[in-house]
Amino acid sequence: QGGIVFKDVHFYYDPERPILKGISFEVPAGKTVAVVGPSGAGKSTISRLLYRFYDIQQGSITIDGQDIRTVTQKSLRAAIGMVPQDTVLFNDTIAYNIRYGRPAASEEEMKAAAEIAQIGTFISHLPDGYDTKVGERGLKLSGGEKQRVAIARTVLKAPPILILDEATSALDTTTEREIQTALDIVSKNRTTLIIAHRLSTVIGADEIIVLKGGEIAERGSHAELMQHD
Ligand code: ADP
Ligand code: ADP
Repeated sequence: QGGIVFKDVHFYYDPERPILKGISFEVPAGKTVAVVGPSGAGKSTISRLLYRFYDIQQGSITIDGQDIRTVTQKSLRAAIGMVPQDTVLFNDTIAYNIRYGRPAASEEEMKAAAEIAQIGTFISHLPDGYDTKVGERGLKLSGGEKQRVAIARTVLKAPPILILDEATSALDTTTEREIQTALDIVSKNRTTLIIAHRLSTVIGADEIIVLKGGEIAERGSHAELMQHD
């Protein structure tokens, strides 16, 4: 479920400056494809187009063979879970924040999602660290912890499609490894598009696409791409 096809996609924010110059790639249902490339290459733009924050000028984007322009915004967003670079949390408990994508989830489901994302000890806290259960202020949530809240939210929402806009480069290696582990669990058997800066963080992807100057410069498995360098 959730196979994605980008076919000859052209996109610009400003007609004078094309960002994507006819790119084609596929994320088969249940597989993981990573888009890597230098800063400004248009990687995040690809995720925004899939979410339909913007419409493309030429070509097509389909999910399960259906053009995303024919899908309602509501069902498109229900099908896609996004773990953004900078997670902005609501000023409410972490439990509330985790439930945001699926408010009707049971307490047990919410707790299970929190455990997978390794944020279980924080569920009664506010983002500034105040523990609503104990009634005391603890440590403010770090960037990595906020990202884990976003991961837990996605685990609970369990959408067929995942977009991971990686920003683990800003985190220390231990946090990065913990988040990576959580992301591996979430992306298993889901159609997953990873936006990454470094090849080293996407070793497990089924295919890696290298975006440069608005075009796909290279593609292949991690091993194949390493041979070229
Ligand atoms: P990447 O994720 O690869 O770093 P982006 O997709 O964020 O690249 O951006 C690609 C290019 O598009 C950049 O040059 C950026 O400045 C430009 N850009 C991004 N968002 C907008 C926008 N809303 N309006 C105009 N230009 C934008
Ligand atoms: P829902 O999945 O409940 O429909 P939203 O559509 O509001 O939730 O947001 C889904 C994810 O996309 C959230 O993680 C949110 O942070 C992110 N997001 C929402 N709007 C934007 C935006 N304009 N740019 C980047 N990310 C966004």
